[in-house]
Amino acid sequence: MDVESIIKNVRMMLGERGSLKLKDPFKVLITTVLSQRTRDENTSNAAKELFKKYDAPEKLSKASVADIASLIKKTGFYKVKAKRIKFIAKHVALHGMPKKFEDLMKLPGVGRKTANCVLAYCYGVPAIPVDTHVHRISNRLGLVNTKRPEETENALKNVLPKKCWLEFNLLFVKFGQKICRPINPLCNKCLLKGVCKYYNSIRN
Ligand code: SF4
Repeated sequence: MDVESIIKNVRMMLGERGSLKLKDPFKVLITTVLSQRTRDENTSNAAKELFKKYDAPEKLSKASVADIASLIKKTGFYKVKAKRIKFIAKHVALHGMPKKFEDLMKLPGVGRKTANCVLAYCYGVPAIPVDTHVHRISNRLGLVNTKRPEETENALKNVLPKKCWLEFNLLFVKFGQKICRPINPLCNKCLLKGVCKYYNSIRN
């Protein structure tokens, strides 16, 4: 099965139509910083709390670090993240949202995954953000054979046609939350059993 058919099957399992709606760059940037070393559910709750009170960079730039920390307390390393978020909000309020990979990477707490998320989901620039779901599933399926997420991004760029980059993270994150879970993946429900390296290795 080629990689485009794998993506088509994932889309089918999730009932996704594959359309990508561009999102607010500032919120994606802050949410991705919140997501580091944090479970998806806690990230989403913390982002909701934070944006309920401070929904724009100008407002967030004036918040105290202590207040930001109290709103994002459910995420890992929340004190460090609160300081970074304040810095980022001030920077964006003063200079506007960075639109280039190199400029995004200069912000504190922003790594390749975060910068790629902003490029892909906010500006529609082809990029492959690699988080733990993308890294795990790509290796389970045998699309790549890598140890660290950073290596996975480059390896995926060699096997994925560029037209598939934009939706890849979005699909695989949902697939990882619902079916190909970190522990006890629902292989019996999965349409990719036949081609999955991991599934076939545990059966033999
Ligand atoms: S067969 Fe199992 S391990 Fe392989 S992709 Fe499907 S859910 Fe994941």
